[in-house]
Amino acid sequence: MLVYHLPGTFDTRDDHLDLLWQAGATGLEERAGVIRAYFDEQTPLPEAVRDGEWRQEADQDWLAEFKANLRPVAAGRVTIVPPWLRAEVSAPQVPLIIEPGMAFGTGHHATTRLAVEALSALNLNGRTVLDVGTGSGVLAIAAALLGARYALGVDIDPITIPIARENAELNGVPAGRSAFMEGTLGDELPGDVVEDGVYDVLVANLYAELHDLLAGAYVPHLRPGGPLILTGILLGKLPLVRAALAREGFTDVTVREDGEWALVTARA
Ligand code: SAM
Repeated sequence: MLVYHLPGTFDTRDDHLDLLWQAGATGLEERAGVIRAYFDEQTPLPEAVRDGEWRQEADQDWLAEFKANLRPVAAGRVTIVPPWLRAEVSAPQVPLIIEPGMAFGTGHHATTRLAVEALSALNLNGRTVLDVGTGSGVLAIAAALLGARYALGVDIDPITIPIARENAELNGVPAGRSAFMEGTLGDELPGDVVEDGVYDVLVANLYAELHDLLAGAYVPHLRPGGPLILTGILLGKLPLVRAALAREGFTDVTVREDGEWALVTARA
């Protein structure tokens, strides 16, 4: 792999980035005060960017490296693991197997962890759970593994649905106990087995502005008194979510924090 190392950052050399592209760079990356420009072959460069250095580097298999560094993630009673680390989880922890791939939700983001912890703090036996923005299906699958009788995951991104279904299968969740559908709240949820679309628990890992928009739509999907679990919220955006919940009549608001992220629970 041929890499041209140019001192500086994208900010300090903003004017020079186009010169690298024009010279044939196939990719640019900034690492520790150096711009790394990837080239297929050594090529003459314009004067303004000649203060760098050509280097031949060993090819790296980023995916293999990412996978090799994955560790199990404990979140309450559940430990989220890739398939090849399943044996590292022992009772009483419940293993939740997620194949890392294109959909968000491997457990390595604080918001996923916070949401699985919040689900794991509930008694879900025999309950129904709606997971809005299901991604890899991780939260709906966690709910099913924690005893929910039915968990529905919805996502506007169609790519997530087969991934979530595969993950549910990997975890041995029977088809009748989980379902994944493309869509969002406000859409008819076709084939939904829950009467009137009213769930015992609603969990959503989205972002604050979307919680603000959807807060009114959460109400008809949650039984009175049912817990609402919202995350994907940056600490600075908490007031927006609090105001939306107050506006829609949610009570018993609690907040948990992890770094810059917050999880909010409330009751319908
Ligand atoms: N639930 C997973 C987790 O907790 O790790 C994934 C959460 S990921 C942060 C958010 C997901 O919400 C994405 O898969 C995205 O496609 C989906 N999404 C974004 N806007 C949405 C909307 N309006 N309705 C439903 N899903 C949405």
